[in-house]
Amino acid sequence: MTCPHCHKKITSNEVFCHHCGHQLREVVEYNESEEKGMSQSRLLGILGLIFFVVPFVTFVISGIGLKKAKETHDDKAQDLNSWAIAMAFVACAIYAIVLLAIFH
Ligand SMILES: [Zn+2]
Repeated sequence: MTCPHCHKKITSNEVFCHHCGHQLREVVEYNESEEKGMSQSRLLGILGLIFFVVPFVTFVISGIGLKKAKETHDDKAQDLNSWAIAMAFVACAIYAIVLLAIFH
């Protein structure tokens, strides 16, 4: 093996050429890709948590809205209820699309 910079003989396990100091291999490549993989899995974990929590929260809001609407016959509570149900359905639809995209 020869150095691509000075074309002198070097051993294959060298990181820097001992003749000219040219960097032969990316030293931090492994650590960077490992870190990227970690942050990616962390991002997926957060996304999973959000997609798990959002429908749950909207269903809870919907439940509260329905209860209040029944108790007070309040138009605003009924509005909140229908909004929350719509949001829950939208969240579930997004959840299903994301699941399909991941496990396609
Ligand atoms: Zn060299």
